[in-house]
Amino acid sequence: MFVFSSIEQYHAQLQEGNITCVQAVEHYLQRIHLTKHLNAFIEVYAAEALQKAKNLDEKRKLGEPPPGKLHGVVIGLKDVICYKDHAISASSKILNARFPTDDGTNGRGFTSIYSATVVERLLAAEAIIIGNLNCDEFAMGSSNENSAYGNVLNALDETRVPGGSSGGSAVAVQAGLCMISLGSDTGGSVRQPADFCGIIGLKPTYGRVSRYGLIAYASSFDQVGIFGNNIPDIATLLEVIAGPDEFDSTVSQKENPPYSLELSNDQPFRFAYFNEALDHPGVDREIAFFIKKYIEDLKIKGHEVKPVAFDWFDYIVPAYYVLTTAEASSNLSRYDGVKYGYKTPMPNLELTEFYKQTRSAGFGKEVKRRIMLGTFVLSSGYYNAYFTRAQKVRKLLSEKIQLIFRDFDFILLPTSPFTAFKAGEKLHDPIAMYLADIYTVMANLVGIPAISLPLFKHSNGMPFSLQVMANHFNELSLLQISNRLVQQ
Ligand code: GLN
Repeated sequence: MFVFSSIEQYHAQLQEGNITCVQAVEHYLQRIHLTKHLNAFIEVYAAEALQKAKNLDEKRKLGEPPPGKLHGVVIGLKDVICYKDHAISASSKILNARFPTDDGTNGRGFTSIYSATVVERLLAAEAIIIGNLNCDEFAMGSSNENSAYGNVLNALDETRVPGGSSGGSAVAVQAGLCMISLGSDTGGSVRQPADFCGIIGLKPTYGRVSRYGLIAYASSFDQVGIFGNNIPDIATLLEVIAGPDEFDSTVSQKENPPYSLELSNDQPFRFAYFNEALDHPGVDREIAFFIKKYIEDLKIKGHEVKPVAFDWFDYIVPAYYVLTTAEASSNLSRYDGVKYGYKTPMPNLELTEFYKQTRSAGFGKEVKRRIMLGTFVLSSGYYNAYFTRAQKVRKLLSEKIQLIFRDFDFILLPTSPFTAFKAGEKLHDPIAMYLADIYTVMANLVGIPAISLPLFKHSNGMPFSLQVMANHFNELSLLQISNRLVQQ
């Protein structure tokens, strides 16, 4: 039986002839079939993935040219990342979310007319894209309970949520349905589901990875992120997908180092942490206890680890929800039923009524809540009270974080204040759901890279993680320290 442990080992197995790409894809197709009830995949590209695997096997036999960095690596994509000629819907009815038809195939959804830059780069590196993955509608949510396709189940405890919004991407790696997956992280949507599922999740610096072909939620926060089982795999993926892109002017021209080749670094580092986070009334006591203990252990291992005063936790979630909903209300105005996607079947409506009917039926409850909230905070009477004020919080927070990075290499936080909760538990209390993001939104407000490392197990049986943040474009040192921490 095929067992995946890392890309490097898989490539060695391929070279030795112990496995073929076709066998690897067959293995995943079978696993996906056996775990269908988890609802991680929206669509599986079975025939196409097998054909691609066959081509790669043949190419390898010929020996020339040398295999790509992701040769035969089986990858899943969140349903917000465009793949030319493949349906995409952001798990929303407004993009004609597609459902199985009577013949067992998926109904037609909106089809991408081009591929995201990240997809082009995966394909150029010879990856095999096996399917696309369920998520919260338009990446809005923390539990994957806001999807037109229904909930995703956490494979470790099916009564619990996998986190969100990239819940399908997290479960696909957690349950061994692909080797690695891509999600998007606007306020924690890679790190928090990684935490809930016990895997690694990386959000790169804003501007490290192109957003071209990523369906927008909040454009000044959105970033493509990576789910994996080990740091070298994540490093390899990052070096493939990151770097300048003529289609996204917000991507930095900075050098994109070969992360996977430079992962060893034994020097002691300087870590900051916030007592205000660990003593926060909302954080699970066991999570706080284990992270404090871990901090003490880091000191014993020779690192400098110090508390820094940080009284921002009451402001960051509100600032995040004001700014992201404002951006979302603008970004989502394009879904009006005129050019593409769902349109109301009601006949003879005048234009405004047509929009109303289309958008009322096409968007789900949480998306509508956010469009209304975003429209409200941008409205002329309230603009200064909410939007401008939240922008000020963002600016001041960035300055505060820059001061911290003058003296420290990393900031340590929990990823989530609690472990994966039960399905339905927070569904009817949006504020409680939003507070799940208290430790993750900071990295998006400031634009810094952050990673969630599954180092702990709670007495309730669920995993939980340490979150490490670094300064802008310091992914290399972030991956270096992460590689050490997960191996200790
Ligand atoms: N949970 C956050 C939200 O609902 C994060 C979403 C995200 O990162 N896409 O907005």
